[in-house]
Amino acid sequence: MVTTKILKKSKRIALVAHDHKKADLVDWVKFNEAKLITHDLYATGTTGKLIEETLGVPVKRLLSGPLGGDQQIGSMIAEGDIDVMIFFWDPMHAQPHDSDVKALLRVGVAWNIPMACDRATADFIMTSPYMDSEYETIIPDYSEYLTRPIEDEPA
Ligand code: PGA
Repeated sequence: MVTTKILKKSKRIALVAHDHKKADLVDWVKFNEAKLITHDLYATGTTGKLIEETLGVPVKRLLSGPLGGDQQIGSMIAEGDIDVMIFFWDPMHAQPHDSDVKALLRVGVAWNIPMACDRATADFIMTSPYMDSEYETIIPDYSEYLTRPIEDEPA
């Protein structure tokens, strides 16, 4: 049986940008201001501060990415509290929290979250009719991974 849930018209959007991609994200945010301010915005610490300054609207700011902010967003995705993620990660520089970056990208896919990692994809997502309407999204079924009886665990 397929399990679905309805994403509301107003989405909960998580935004994250690595340092070398912050200018790019701020530019994109300005371009999409009119649409973005109709949604609830969440962001890692520094990215959130920049977005608040750019848009003049409150952003729910989590910790800075390297201090656990990526993991906080990943946790929110797993709990069903984020609908869309815009994550401009840096393809040219290693990050101190590369393991967290990988984990966040993984959890986004694991929970079927629309995810943009570059401007073109972010533009496609923002112009999707689903951004301005309810959307019935599929919740992946991982029950097969959870059914193994505990006594089958390797010693
Ligand atoms: P920041 O974190 O918004 O606090 O810079 C982003 C990141 O590096 O994951």
